[in-house]
Amino acid sequence: MFNIILFGPPGSGKGTQSEKLIAKYNFKHLSTGDLLRSEISRKTPLGLEAKKFMDKGQLVPDEVVIGMISSALDSNRDVVGFLFDGFPRTAQQADALDKLLELKKQTINAMIALDVTEEELVKRLKKRGETSGRSDDVNEQVIRTRIGEYHQKTAPVADHYKKANKAVFVKGEGSIDTIFDALSREIDKRLPK
Ligand code: ADP
Repeated sequence: MFNIILFGPPGSGKGTQSEKLIAKYNFKHLSTGDLLRSEISRKTPLGLEAKKFMDKGQLVPDEVVIGMISSALDSNRDVVGFLFDGFPRTAQQADALDKLLELKKQTINAMIALDVTEEELVKRLKKRGETSGRSDDVNEQVIRTRIGEYHQKTAPVADHYKKANKAVFVKGEGSIDTIFDALSREIDKRLPK
């Protein structure tokens, strides 16, 4: 299996690029944001718990998302690889992911981070809020909280993969296709021949 993490702040384009990458490479897309929103729309106990945090722009507790990823890994055994989107978002989640993959004799092959300036992020998220139906995109304070959570808790996750020599940085501004080409190049370089 070939497993990658698409990394970056809220609004950096992880969702958009993930859709294109899974179409091209057949990865199994695991987006914790999408999984959580699906739990919310089905009104499951997990969803109701997660919603309290998401509405405020805060991260959902580690044990909740780690449990969700663990069962997603178990229920997708025959895949070419996983594309993790929005996970891991804390150092504890990164450690847990290493352990879960190790149990399956798997590893992360690369963490690819999208670099986008903060002003561009806020602009994109507010624009997305006009059409996405996502309540966490409408309120500027919630957007700022999400970006704050990213700097405080998620940015350190990049160091975890830098230490393991698995971190790659790609410019996340420009056209969708230019960014997609840059991501594809980084993946192609690392795919087993
Ligand atoms: P974005 O990256 O644009 O904020 P996501 O859909 O990835 O959008 O996440 C939306 C919300 O879901 C986050 O603000 C957070 O509350 C919650 N969430 C998603 N992934 C995680 C995670 N790995 N750990 C904790 N909370 C998460």
